[in-house]
Order: sequence, then structure tokens, then C-alpha cells
Amino acid sequence: MANIWQKDIMYLKKVGPQRAEALRKHAQIRTYRDLIHYFPRKYVDRSRVTKIGEISGEASFVTLVGRIARIDVNASKRGRSILTASFTDGTGEMVLTWFQSVKWMQKSLQVGEEIAIFGKPTMYNGRWQITHPEIDKLQEGGEKKQAIQIVPYYSSSEKLQRVGLDSRGIRGLMLQLLQESLADVEETLSPGVIEQNGLMSKKEAIRHIHFPQDFHSLQAAQYRLKFEELFFFQLMMARRQQKAKSVHAAPPFGKIGPNFHAFFEQHMPFELTGAQKRVLKEIRRDLAKPVQMNRLVQGDVGSGKTMVAFMTMLMAKDNGFQVALMAPTAILAEQHYRKITKMAGKVGMTTAILVGGQKKAKRTEVLERIASGEADIVIGTHALIEPSVQFKQLGLVVIDEQHKFGVVQRAKLWRKADPFPHNLIMTATPIPRTLAMTVYGDTEVSVIDEMPPGRMPIETHVLGESKRLELFGFVTRELERGKQAYVVYPLVEESEKLDLIAAEKGHELLERHFKNFRVGIVHGKMKPDAKEFEMQRFVKNEVQILVSTTVIEVGVDVPNATIMVIENAERFGLSQLHQLRGRVGRGGGKSYCFLMKGKKLSTDGRKRLNAMKETTDGFRISEFDLELRGPGDFMGTRQSGLPQFMLANIVEDQEILIAARDTAFELIGRDPDLLDPMCQEMRSYLERYMKSQALLGTVA
Ligand code: ADP
Ligand code: MG
Repeated sequence: MANIWQKDIMYLKKVGPQRAEALRKHAQIRTYRDLIHYFPRKYVDRSRVTKIGEISGEASFVTLVGRIARIDVNASKRGRSILTASFTDGTGEMVLTWFQSVKWMQKSLQVGEEIAIFGKPTMYNGRWQITHPEIDKLQEGGEKKQAIQIVPYYSSSEKLQRVGLDSRGIRGLMLQLLQESLADVEETLSPGVIEQNGLMSKKEAIRHIHFPQDFHSLQAAQYRLKFEELFFFQLMMARRQQKAKSVHAAPPFGKIGPNFHAFFEQHMPFELTGAQKRVLKEIRRDLAKPVQMNRLVQGDVGSGKTMVAFMTMLMAKDNGFQVALMAPTAILAEQHYRKITKMAGKVGMTTAILVGGQKKAKRTEVLERIASGEADIVIGTHALIEPSVQFKQLGLVVIDEQHKFGVVQRAKLWRKADPFPHNLIMTATPIPRTLAMTVYGDTEVSVIDEMPPGRMPIETHVLGESKRLELFGFVTRELERGKQAYVVYPLVEESEKLDLIAAEKGHELLERHFKNFRVGIVHGKMKPDAKEFEMQRFVKNEVQILVSTTVIEVGVDVPNATIMVIENAERFGLSQLHQLRGRVGRGGGKSYCFLMKGKKLSTDGRKRLNAMKETTDGFRISEFDLELRGPGDFMGTRQSGLPQFMLANIVEDQEILIAARDTAFELIGRDPDLLDPMCQEMRSYLERYMKSQALLGTVA
């Protein structure tokens, strides 16, 4: 590649040291390459000329063509000069006003000259006025000049404006840059990819993204550049997926043996749903291969992921391997432990639990059972990652509620086995398809998109404080019918102490109000034992109302609880609200979720609560969440492995993403190392790209 692109921006005509420094400091623009990638933030159509007589309201920007009839310079009250010009186009008259650059404007404007002006009209003293309009002289050197029709607007800042680089100034640099170097823009995609997707060439795209001829060419330019961004990302994913397949050998689980059969035929407590069966089949297919499985199972809260995981564990045992199940909290680990121990016991399999805070003797014993292979299934929190945990023969790692663990933590668990274990990742955060495609390009995704039979939809209400007594009345009646309720207080991040106070106060208030019932409390500051004790009282219905901070967020299963009250619900994120609501409606009868809203509701807060009212579909909720928060924030960029795209937006540009992904995966499938001579440019670009992305790390 011609290295004009690495040239310091200082050397561009019209730049110089002072502007170069401002660009570097305030816009991270150092080189020609950086500048050409500084894309407009918006475009304004100037091609439609409006008549003064047609202006009807203080709407948006307009283009007018006419002549200056008069120019006046007056002094303001503070003694600064103001320039006003009367402008006419035969249908009316308006005032143009300048408070700045008065001298310069006075020199450059001429009465009678034909000009095009562009700006936003406002009504002032009964007349239309535009302050600081942009001006194009239509007659220059005797020739009629074509004014720029679709005007690009670039982001600027006060600091940049000080060196004359407002949007218009930057536009000037861009014109200069394109004049000097457009010819050096090189194609990055192969002719095949371009043709297959009907793309504009890179050179054309760069030109039209900055100075579009019309909206059609602008769109084509945007499509092409977004495609390119997404395409190289997907190429990288496709390459990684292929590498993972050839590099990470894992023990094949070739047989479905006695444990699986015995459980399936004699101890299944229910018929699997169609979705569970389908996902199990997908898992079996993966496990039969001598290649590490990396499968993410997405299923809404309550869709029955645990049984799928357990059936997979049976397959591991049938093939002589141990299993590790890692959960994000001790409560959840203990709950899994109880359930799985019960099921495993039916076929004579053994379990062990490892969480923080266990007594030393107990811990030593557990570690011993893991190392000797005496424990078939080991369940725990991230305590499982510690070096002291040694397995005899680890063959399968199951991770529940995947989004709570970082990439690194998961990788540490694999290292406990040689060859690597198979991986089953279960997440109740239904990740929108687009995001899954982007983030888990190198992981297979299964979806449990069907709920076990008999679920009743949860009725959701958003309530203000004035409805509290009514709500308490309703809760009382439900408790009298033998039901149970959760009341959740939000986490205020700055202070765990405050959270606790809110929850404890709430607890007191509820105890006073619900005198005939027991009210329990669990929160993050409690010792695991105490927490577990309280949870058990709720499970056994010795406590009817459970007050909590967010610790019950994941996984707790108490079917008899049918009421979920969430205090200051606007402070929770959408996916959290969805998870919390999923604690009820678990087969114990008609269930309700009450979202208590605080006095101050932000627009987003209101939107979240409305979304909760509208739907109980986790996928729709997460898609909505993605829209509201934007992809970067959705999962936390660092952990999610999401790159920062310059132009593409994975929410809005799904169609382009799908096209890019299909093209990339098909290409890598056909030509894994891009050896086709036509792909040479693409290959070297990909190499550079992968280097720049290496820090993002691999997911799964
Ligand atoms: P999650 O996907 O949220 O982890 P669980 O695995 O905890 O969901 O399942 C939720 C509840 O549904 C559990 O009580 C479980 O026993 C029950 N369940 C799971 N699969 C089925 C099924 N096919 N038919 C009936 N009940 C089921
Ligand atoms: Mg679960």
C-alpha cells in the first residue's frame, strides 16, 4: 500500500503544526489515514431550494437563492458590531445577521450579487431571520458554480473551532485530502466479494461518504464501508472457528451408556420439550467428535436448561469423565448441587460442592474426592478455578449464567484438563441474534425457545407509591391463599451499605404490615450459611415474604412464590428485571409482577418499565435492551469481545451483518487461508486487522 496514508497530517495543505496538534489532541487524528476515516456525523440536503414566501415555521435548515439588497453595520448595546443584510428572492425579504467575523463578511458580501444561503430561519420582530448562514457565491469568475448539494457535517469541538476547524473547516481539509490522495485509496475486498454483494468500490465509497453526489450514492457508500467493517470481523471469527476445530482436540464421547439410559428410561420426571430434545441432539452431535465442543445454550428463564445440562453430564460419565459445573453465586451453586445430587443419586452418580467459605476440613475432603475421581460431578462457584482444584479426568465443563464470568476465568477452568474439556455454556440472558452472531462467531449457539407446558403468563403492573396500600391488600389476599412473595430492593452501586439500609427498612415495614406472616431477608453482606438458611426457610414456606437485594437474581426456583414486587424498579436494567420476574410463574399458579416506580423517572427508565409491561418474551426484551443501551454497553465491551465499529451499528445494520457473515464464512469454508490470488489484498488486510484485534481476546 502506498504509504501516503501514514503521512503526518501536519503535511496536508491548510493544516500546519498548530492545527495538526489540535487534530491530534482533540480528535485523535494523526495521519492521512485517520483523517480519511473521520466520517461525517450527518448530512444536510441543500439541493432543494426554498422560497422565502414558502417558509412556514421555524422548521429545519433551508437553502435559499437570491440577492443581497442592503448591508448595515450597527453597534450592539455592548458596543460590538453587528452586521445585518437584507436578502430577497422575489417572494419575500429576510434578514441575515452576523455577530462574528463582521469585518470579513462586510468585505466579502456585495449588494446585488447572487448567492445561495443555507441556515435555519427564526422569526424575529415579525420577520424571518437567519443568523450566521452559510453562503455560496453562485457566480465566480463569470462562471456559474455548482454549490455542494449534500453537505457533510463533521463533529467538531470548541478546541478545534479555535483553530478554525469547525465542521466547515474540517470539510475544507477533507476536500484537500481527497484531491491529494483519493487516487491512492486501494481496494481491500476481492472482486468476487464485491460482485457477489453488489458493492461500490472502496475509492468511490470513500469519495461519496464525504461528498455524496446524491442520497443514493451516499447510501451505497455507507453500505460498502459498513459491510467491509463487519466482513473483516466475521472473517476473523470464521478463521478462529476453523482453527479451534483443528487445534483443540478433546475426547470424543462416543457412547450413550448405562447412566444416560437408566435415567432417561426410569427417572425422567417429565417429558422433555421439543426444544430441549433438539438442543440435546445438537450437543450429542458435538460430543461425538474428537474436537472441543463450545456450545452456548440460550434459554429464557425457566425454559429448562438444567435438565439439558444434566443429561449432558450423564453422557460424560458414560464415557468415563468428570464434570465441573460453575455457577456465579454460592446460592445458585447450592441449589444446583441439591437438585443434581438428587437426580444423580438415582443412577448412583456422586457429586461434590466447592464454594468459598467452607470449613478447612470439609474443603480438604472435597478436593480429595475431586482429585481421586470419586466425585463425578463437581459443582461450585469460581472457587473451582483455584489451582488447588485438581481433577482426575475432567471431560466436561458446564457454565451457568455465562455472562457473569469473564473469558479468562472460563479459560482457566479448561486448563485443568488435558486434552481440553468440552464446554457447555448456559445463559438465561437471551442474546439477540445479531449480537450472538457477532460475539460468538466462534461458538455454536443453541436456543431453547419453548417453555415447559403449564406455564401461565405473568401479569405485570407498573405502580406508583399511591397504590401501595392497594398492592399490600392484594398481597395479603394471595398470602392467605397460601402463596408466597418476593420483595426486591435495588442495588445502589455507590454504596452497598445504603442498599442494605433500604432493604432492612423495607423488611421492618413489611413485618409491621404483614403481622400474620413471616418476613425473611437475604442480602449480599450475609455469610453464605446464613443466606442459605434463610433461603431454605422460604423454600419450605416457613417464611412467606422474602425481602432481598439482588441476590436472588439468578436461578432460584420456588414454584409456590407467585408474587414479585420490585422496588424502585426503574433503577434496574431490563435484563435484570426480566430475570427477577422469571422467579415467579414457575408452575405455582397465576403469578404477578409489580414494578414500583420512584418519583423521578428518566425517559429510559419509563421505556424499560413499559417494555416489561408489554412483553414477557426474553428475546424481545433483550432486543429492546440492546436498542436502548446500544451494543457496547449491552454486555460491557471488554468482556463481550465486541469491537468498536466506526460506521456499522450491529443493531441497525443487521441485514449488512448477515450478508457479511454469510460471505465471510462461505469464503473461509472454501478457501481457509485465502490462497486465491484474487484474495491477496484481502488476506494481508485481514492479517493486519487480526493483529489490531488481538487484544480483544477470544470468547469462550
Ligand atoms: P432455567 O432454564 O431457568 O435454568 P430450570 O432448568 O431451572 O430453568 O427449569 C425450570 C423448572 O422447569 C424446573 O422446576 C424444572 O424442573 C422444570 N422443567 C424443566 N424442563 C421441563 C419439562 N420439559 N417439562 C416440565 N417441567 C420442566
Ligand atoms: Mg437455571
